[in-house]
Amino acid sequence: MAFELPKLNYAPNALVPHIDEKTMEIHHGKHHQAYVTNLNNAIANTDAEKLSIEEICKTISKYPMPVRNNGGGHYNHTLFWEIMSPTGGGIPTNEIGKAIEAELGGFENFKKDFSNAGATRFGSGWAWLCVKADGKLCVCSTPNQDNPLMDIADCKGTPILGMDVWEHAYYLNYQNRRPDYMNAFFNVINWSKVNELYLAAKK
Ligand code: MN
Repeated sequence: MAFELPKLNYAPNALVPHIDEKTMEIHHGKHHQAYVTNLNNAIANTDAEKLSIEEICKTISKYPMPVRNNGGGHYNHTLFWEIMSPTGGGIPTNEIGKAIEAELGGFENFKKDFSNAGATRFGSGWAWLCVKADGKLCVCSTPNQDNPLMDIADCKGTPILGMDVWEHAYYLNYQNRRPDYMNAFFNVINWSKVNELYLAAKK
């Protein structure tokens, strides 16, 4: 079955002023749609058509670059829309909040490390909060549309929070000011969804 562009759970202007409406419309409707279309074209009439996007990512070394780039693009953006919300932001006090306190040196330290992962990613890529195989949290970044599910990734784990630091994610509103965009992103993080993903990844 062909992959499809997921619907947003909120209106494209719902994250204003942190993320502007035009960026959301183009990012979701054009960029993510292009990853979906190109992924479907890249796997047409192959066994990968029967797999989930997670299964494809986990064995990505078997596939040509168009599957890696567009499959990663589809997985990463699907997660990205879900972990943002107009009622997001703040400091989590649920299980993920406690784990950040216990394992990552507290929320402010996590925010610094996560933002640093995004800021030091040269060119395009993603910053991640992941659950490693041992159940512990880790912060890292990947280039392009790679992600920590991929068998070729330097940092491996189950992503529970991802921040897109491609220029297309922020340029219309923030131009070259990636740090301002990253600060704003913290105001829309859907911590209840991140917590749900955290608990699922720990099982
Ligand atoms: Mn993007």
